[in-house]
Amino acid sequence: MLVPILHIHMETRFDSLHAEADALLKVGQEALVRDINDSLNYALATSEMPTLQRFLSAQNSVAPNKQAYSLSDLSQLSTFLNTLISHHPRYSKLVLMDNNGHEILRAPHSVNTGPRVTGNQHANTDYFKEAVRLLPRELYISPPGRNLQYELLGQNVIPVVNVSTPIFNATGKRLGVVMLSLNWDYLTNALHQAMTLDQDADVLLVNAQGRWLLNDSPSQLSLLPFGGDFSASAPQYWQAMQQQNEGRTTIDDHILRFKTEDIRTQRYRSLAGNIASDPADYPWTLGVTLPKPSWHTLLQEETTVILFLVLIYSVSVAFGIFWVFSSQRQRQLRRAAQRRAVEASDLYENAPCGYHSLDSQGRVIKMNRTELAWLGYTAEEVIGQVDYRDFITPDTREQFENAFERVQNGQPGSAECSLLTRTGERRDVMIQASAYQRDGRFVHSRATVFDLTERKQLEEQLRTQAMTDPLTGVFNRRYLQAQATIEISRARRQNHPIALIAIDIDHFKRFNDDYGHDVGDEVLQRFTQRVGGLLRHEDLLCRVGGEEFAILLPNTSLEQALQVAERIRDTIENTRIQVQNGNTEQVLRLTASLGVAVILPNESSLEPALKRADLGLYQAKENGRNQVVVNSQA
Ligand code: GH3
Ligand code: MG
Ligand code: MG
Repeated sequence: MLVPILHIHMETRFDSLHAEADALLKVGQEALVRDINDSLNYALATSEMPTLQRFLSAQNSVAPNKQAYSLSDLSQLSTFLNTLISHHPRYSKLVLMDNNGHEILRAPHSVNTGPRVTGNQHANTDYFKEAVRLLPRELYISPPGRNLQYELLGQNVIPVVNVSTPIFNATGKRLGVVMLSLNWDYLTNALHQAMTLDQDADVLLVNAQGRWLLNDSPSQLSLLPFGGDFSASAPQYWQAMQQQNEGRTTIDDHILRFKTEDIRTQRYRSLAGNIASDPADYPWTLGVTLPKPSWHTLLQEETTVILFLVLIYSVSVAFGIFWVFSSQRQRQLRRAAQRRAVEASDLYENAPCGYHSLDSQGRVIKMNRTELAWLGYTAEEVIGQVDYRDFITPDTREQFENAFERVQNGQPGSAECSLLTRTGERRDVMIQASAYQRDGRFVHSRATVFDLTERKQLEEQLRTQAMTDPLTGVFNRRYLQAQATIEISRARRQNHPIALIAIDIDHFKRFNDDYGHDVGDEVLQRFTQRVGGLLRHEDLLCRVGGEEFAILLPNTSLEQALQVAERIRDTIENTRIQVQNGNTEQVLRLTASLGVAVILPNESSLEPALKRADLGLYQAKENGRNQVVVNSQA
């Protein structure tokens, strides 16, 4: 992201650099044009001064070397010209010559000689020779250069441009020549100052020969002295400048903007007519160079911008990374939430208990699969369709209503109810419910329904186990005791007799000894089945010991009990029991001894009668077994 932005930034810098170079060149060009133009106009104005013309006319009217003017005239003119020159620092001197090149006066004049004619001879100078060939209002402009005459005299010589023009009188007669020396340093310094507003800018000015025209101007581009060979020292620049009049080029780490212009012909607002000059010198090329923006400088100078961009970039990258991570995290969380929701829904739907929610009317708004399966209905048939009360059997509806009322009041409620299934079966359940409230108002109930069928079955099983003998399935001694109390009190209430028979299998030990304990067990089971089959529904056959049994016979007299006992004895004696003994089938026979007693009306427990029956039993054993004995005390 940063690179394209920096590129745009770089291009913008290039554009603004070119615009700056254009502007600097224009400023320089205008400064040069203005200065040269002013100078030329000044020279023309000087040549047309009536005072000067009068002075020269007078001089021309006398023989050569004769003085035609008064000293006061000379002094006046000299003072005037001195003032003129000294007020215009761009001029270094003015020389007035006659038609033969004799110097008539100069400004500023030497302190030693005063304004008098110096006797200097200018006849061989380019500015004199060229000027005498010119028509009125025509000018000669010399190449910028040093006056070797002065240099030889060891004076501090500054480069100058000499501008000369002939002086004519009203009738068109040439009276002499005036020459103005332009201070080239002054001119080029002004140019330099105008063009180096940007400290990085460098100015170049070369003539048609590729000679360096700037004097001592501090330039990074060229260390050439005035008049040095620029074409040799900076050939790349020179070549580019030769190819076109105006343009720009990039060389190494600089851009160059240049324009070649002939100051004699181009746009000079001079009042002059023809301007003569040394053809080899013109035109001049003015140029400006600026260092090319580099990545290095761009980064250095635009630190704030770059830092800002880097900051934005980093922030957006960081945001991007954060976004990627957070969306990934969100996806993970969403998946986890979905998984949990599925798990929760699975737990709800397939819990081992029922769940349902009822609205304030008792209508089912939610019910899990387990409870729907218990009831034998589908969700579509129940949810939003059925009042839950319709599932409750009428005999348990009151408990339900009480609990539901508590829940509607915001309290927990529970009720043991029976549900009526689709097939008409009852299912005993425990409903435990609480209210879901919003702003303190009942919205719906949330109930858990526990199936009590299994519990009830278990309870039943435990109860049965508690009162029966596990091997034979007949009642045990504990049950006999408990039931006897009930039966005895009932018998007393109803004034009915109640009898008891005690039974002991004869020589039972030998079954175990002869065929093993398993066969012994089987004999016990067959025995109880056989005896049970001989009894009424209300008679209670109990196993009171290993192979000892007791039968409680409600509403039975002693005689009737004796008959029952005798029938039992007889049946057992005639019973054949087939048992598997290893690989062979064995037919066993057995007998039993029985004692009979009745519970007396004054007896509230079974014990005395049991004792009496046992005594009868012992007697039967003693008498030879397989018989029924009523204890003599009974
Ligand atoms: P008697 O005619 O004098 O009554 O002789 P008996 O062998 O029947 O009497 P005894 O009391 O000496 O022996 C009873 C035997 O019954 C002893 C015991 O091994 C056996 N027995 C008691 N309970 C069980 C049982 O649950 N299964 C089996 N296989 N044997 C039992
Ligand atoms: Mg016994
Ligand atoms: Mg026995």
